[in-house]
Amino acid sequence: MRFAEHLVLAAVDVDERGQKHVLGLRERATENAAAVRVLLADLVERALNPDRSLLVVVDGARARHKAVGGRYVERALNSQYTGFSNLSTILTDLHLGTNKMFPCGAGLGLLDVDGNGDVYLCHRFPGVEEHKYGNVRQGGIEYGRLTEFVNSVQVGNKPVCQTCWIRGICGGGCYHEALQEFGEAALPNLHYCVFLREWTEYGIGVFTELEQKNPGFVEKYIVRSRSDVPKELS
Ligand code: SF4
Repeated sequence: MRFAEHLVLAAVDVDERGQKHVLGLRERATENAAAVRVLLADLVERALNPDRSLLVVVDGARARHKAVGGRYVERALNSQYTGFSNLSTILTDLHLGTNKMFPCGAGLGLLDVDGNGDVYLCHRFPGVEEHKYGNVRQGGIEYGRLTEFVNSVQVGNKPVCQTCWIRGICGGGCYHEALQEFGEAALPNLHYCVFLREWTEYGIGVFTELEQKNPGFVEKYIVRSRSDVPKELS
């Protein structure tokens, strides 16, 4: 963040009620990886446990990807797992050769049913009438409309995604994000594409380094411990 001529790096926690808490601040002349690592090392020193599972949202720049992932890689090279699920997810996808047709299981293996019995695409959609697909107490699930929506959002049906080299990892982006950003759930998450491509590029670098320097780590410490991988691999 910039305050007048000052560049400030901030680590912000978002709790389960959506409240933000500033965990650490550092004034720096640059946002390079070294500067971010100082901020992260300070958080760990002040009791942020890197062994716990954390969902880390990194705002943009490649330097920050490197800083957050750097600690993960250091520990991985010593066969220690760090609970940074963003990186574990992409390493799992690369290891398994994931090729997604959809960004997630919403409308496929996952639906949300609210207290009234109304059925929605996922837990982010309750109240969005356009994406209500029936009621489990009255009439049941509207499979026809649901199938129509799911077919329309296959990544292969999103023209802009056809030339994107990470479409098999992204799958076209979150439907709810698209609805909020562009008013249409079936559109790709264009506001995240650059970030996602940078993140995927970074993930490929980490995957390559780990495969070369500590072969087997990704499979043994990450893939086999995840609940969402095919049973024959776990
Ligand atoms: S990153 Fe963007 S263009 Fe690429 S597949 Fe995802 S939504 Fe489509």
